[in-house]
Amino acid sequence: MKQPIFLRPSFQERIWGGNQLEKKYGYSIPSSNTGECWAISAHPHGQSVVASGDFAEKSLGELWGAYPELFGHFQSDRFPLLTKILDAHDDLSVQVHPNDEYADEFENGELGKTECWYIIDCNEDADIIYGHHAQSKEEFVELVEQEDWEGLLQRIKIKPGDFFYVPSGTIHALCKGTLVLETQQNSDTTYRVYDYNRIGQEGKLRDLHLDKAIDVTTIPHTAAKVEPAIAKTIGGSITTFVEDDYFTVYKWDITNSLALTQEHYFTLVSVISGEGKLISEDKEYPINFGDHFILPNEMHSFIIEGDIQLIASQPNSKGGRQREVAGTTRQVANV
Ligand code: ZN
Repeated sequence: MKQPIFLRPSFQERIWGGNQLEKKYGYSIPSSNTGECWAISAHPHGQSVVASGDFAEKSLGELWGAYPELFGHFQSDRFPLLTKILDAHDDLSVQVHPNDEYADEFENGELGKTECWYIIDCNEDADIIYGHHAQSKEEFVELVEQEDWEGLLQRIKIKPGDFFYVPSGTIHALCKGTLVLETQQNSDTTYRVYDYNRIGQEGKLRDLHLDKAIDVTTIPHTAAKVEPAIAKTIGGSITTFVEDDYFTVYKWDITNSLALTQEHYFTLVSVISGEGKLISEDKEYPINFGDHFILPNEMHSFIIEGDIQLIASQPNSKGGRQREVAGTTRQVANV
């Protein structure tokens, strides 16, 4: 198939969520506490659904299972990535995620969660929590027990257009007044370290997961440096933010018209500003702010026209988990 697959997001209400996903994006959200738009998701906790075309109303998980050719037969027992937009109206809990091995053992075969953030918009004085100051596990535990959050946590000022890579094991939190596009492994496992003593829906403090958090946190913190590589052409530019074992994340910044090629299994794309059209094999598809789609494997070349900015991501070798296959060779059936 040589057409983009447009997806309709699912939404998650959160104690820290707001109404930007409706106000800014025009999505129909469940309440004014909507924190997360799961834009390209095959996770069972919230799947996106194909919005139009031959596969309309199928979930992304169904598509992944039934049509592996769309995804270039990428070897994984599940769709490897998850794209979200997060509306942090209030502070998120301070948290950390496990790696694949830990999540597999302690979280029922879940994947670990390495994630990254593109800051779409934020308040002028916004910051994030990224990393901590403890030099040893003992010091980390001591500062947690003393609830010395100022002493423990590292804050970084942010501005729109910033990009942060958050490998599993990194203590982190988005703070209030921030709108983010997140690309992550397809996982929903979070260990909360500190939650500002907030009362959850049931009228109780929300659970913390301190033992597991201490198990998986990288101590001392090592900052994962992002050095964006920018390739400019006449019609726009391509920025590569990160390329790791799980994903490669790009920004396509189009001012006029850009011819792009896909030499990969498949690509996840989100329009973060502007509007334009995607042209493939003489067919045109309007693409607008807030659209999310997948470019299936056979879309080797296409053109994007307009004044439009997009975040694109592709899975890499450790994205997902290898399918368990009987025998030593997995053969793709000839149909
Ligand atoms: Zn996280």
